[in-house]
Amino acid sequence: MAYDDKIRAAYRAEIEAIREKGLYKEKRFICSPQGAEILVEYPEGAPREKVLNFCANNYLGLSSHPEVVAAAHRGLDERGYGMSSVRFICGTQDIHRELQDKVSEFLGMESTLLFPSCMDANSGVFEAILGKNDVIIADRLIHASLVDGIRLCSAEYDTFKHMDMKHLENKLILHRDKRVRLVVTDGVFSMDGDLAPLDRMCELCDRYGAMLLVDDSHGTGFIGRTGRGTHEHFGVMDRVDIITTTFGKGLGGASGGCVSGRRELVELCRQKARPYLFSNSLAPAIVAASIKVIELITGSTERRDKLERNTVRFRQGITEVGLCVREGETPIVPVMLFNAKLANDMARDMYAEGIYVVGFFFPVVPAGAARIRVQLSAAHEDHHIDRCVEAFRKVGEKYGILGLDRNGIIEKYGM
Ligand SMILES: *Cc1c(COP(=O)(O)O)cnc(C)c1O
Repeated sequence: MAYDDKIRAAYRAEIEAIREKGLYKEKRFICSPQGAEILVEYPEGAPREKVLNFCANNYLGLSSHPEVVAAAHRGLDERGYGMSSVRFICGTQDIHRELQDKVSEFLGMESTLLFPSCMDANSGVFEAILGKNDVIIADRLIHASLVDGIRLCSAEYDTFKHMDMKHLENKLILHRDKRVRLVVTDGVFSMDGDLAPLDRMCELCDRYGAMLLVDDSHGTGFIGRTGRGTHEHFGVMDRVDIITTTFGKGLGGASGGCVSGRRELVELCRQKARPYLFSNSLAPAIVAASIKVIELITGSTERRDKLERNTVRFRQGITEVGLCVREGETPIVPVMLFNAKLANDMARDMYAEGIYVVGFFFPVVPAGAARIRVQLSAAHEDHHIDRCVEAFRKVGEKYGILGLDRNGIIEKYGM
């Protein structure tokens, strides 16, 4: 079929409809390494501005850390640029094995398999270990990549209400005749920053003979006393069967993901998971840098401790200013605005104050739950955090929402 005027007009109309709903995602260009201070071109073509970044997944401040960059250089020099192969043909180097072993040890799991990304890990894991006599019982707010992976497998799919343990228990009873019951959750939910109650989930899994898979992409490296993740936080490090996680967030932020867990489950992923078999191997520079990251955070809790202090400082500041934040303890702090346009407008005004944050609204979060999601980093210094809080005070005042609760803001701006 020719790409004729008619079909072009149809696609243009679809894009225009996105714009008209106020849901259009604008381009923003970062013209510097990732960090607390970045150089940004926004809108496209505008002069570059130095601003503070409060929306990266750079939790541990390792994205441009000199030792990590140096390790990537060494990986490049010693093992080359690319593998030109998937893992199982000729894409596995000794350093891939080394990283897998280091991750197993760090997470306290039996075995680990690297994937090009956590999205790929999640795409491959379910199909590899489950069949049509099995059931997946997942929290209703799990990450999109888990939902996609679940769609690719033949097991039955059921859900429980977000963090509702009674509802999960009912579902475990309902599906008691299945061969395998696999409970699936995020460790840290990325939009609200809330922690899945893994202690209670493990109890239920034990009672009803179910397995537990946790995607800890927003937890690995900094949640828990030594940063092992959400399973450490809840004292269940030996009771989670599978963890999937990413190297693209706290652990250096380049790319890569993994499935870590019971030996046989990981082995089956090596035999069957399609992204492992059909997508290219993680580049040596990233592998070498990821090994360095694991070494850095195994040797010291300094970075996750600083992140924790930064989180407390920001949460206190923003609460004193009178903005409406979801309570919690993770470095994900949603400043709730409820109305999509308000979130968008305030994010733009924050940028004018030198703070880079982004408004989130439907379909990324439920309609009527628009927000600016702030993410803290160990790369932030006190003066960065104070400037961010001050900018929120100024912008919040302009919109007259300081001191207002949910109802107050909705009364003023609608949902
Ligand atoms: C970011 C994220 C992913 C995707 O990780 P990538 O390595 O970037 O593909 C998967 N799951 C969760 C919960 C995430 O937050």
